[in-house]
Amino acid sequence: MQIMILGCGTSTGVPVPACICSVCRSGKEKNIRTRTSALISAENGTQILIDTSSDFRQQALRRAIQRIDAVLYTHYHADHILGLEDLRGYNFAQQGPIPAYGTQNTISEIRRCFNYVFEPNPNYDGGGVPQIETHLIDDTTPFEVKGFLVRPFQLQHGLTVVTGYRIGEMAYATDCKILPEATYETLTGVRVLVLDGLRYEPHKAHLTIPEACAVAQRISAERTFLTHMTHSIDYDDVSAKLPAGVELAYDGLVVDFKY
Ligand SMILES: [Zn+2]
Ligand SMILES: [Zn+2]
Ligand SMILES: [Zn+2]
Repeated sequence: MQIMILGCGTSTGVPVPACICSVCRSGKEKNIRTRTSALISAENGTQILIDTSSDFRQQALRRAIQRIDAVLYTHYHADHILGLEDLRGYNFAQQGPIPAYGTQNTISEIRRCFNYVFEPNPNYDGGGVPQIETHLIDDTTPFEVKGFLVRPFQLQHGLTVVTGYRIGEMAYATDCKILPEATYETLTGVRVLVLDGLRYEPHKAHLTIPEACAVAQRISAERTFLTHMTHSIDYDDVSAKLPAGVELAYDGLVVDFKY
């Protein structure tokens, strides 16, 4: 299987509108970060999207994504869900609803935020709304998506519990500050890890780069890719400082892994 990083930027994206810092003005491709999301592709053509970021439409067009078989939601923060509306193209192309998985808390917040999608108003006469089939998951119990076993795990992100997902030898752990012990157990044997690594300055809800490196060392995947980065991270400068086995993600990065 394969994971493509569709976006590795924090909630503002990078460049940040109106910012004149050196990273925002660098023009370097690896310093341009759309909002955090990823696409998992299987050999049989199945494609599973992680989150519908605010930049989903742009990501879908840029990477020529031809189908979405399911969406796994990590949590309900705006940067991870606001592209939900743009799943409509896939409803048209695939002629059916798209299943979306998340915890009770995540799904109920998505349903509240996209009230017009899930509680249709008979007097609404805009265009069609996305067709999404929500599925509640228990974030400690493995479940199946289109024939693939998905092992969810919990991540503490400030006061929010975020869902991480392990598929085969790959695990995706965005938006976190603390990994509970049970999560370390679920991550045993992972060879490709995508992990939150916001910036160097401390943050109450996100791992800093040094904190992420310590977590990466403990999990000891062969390759750990940091994601959800701010505009304080220059790709080349920070990449040169990272320990062996830890790399910065970038938009469009593709990594193979075994199921
Ligand atoms: Zn986020
Ligand atoms: Zn900036
Ligand atoms: Zn978040």
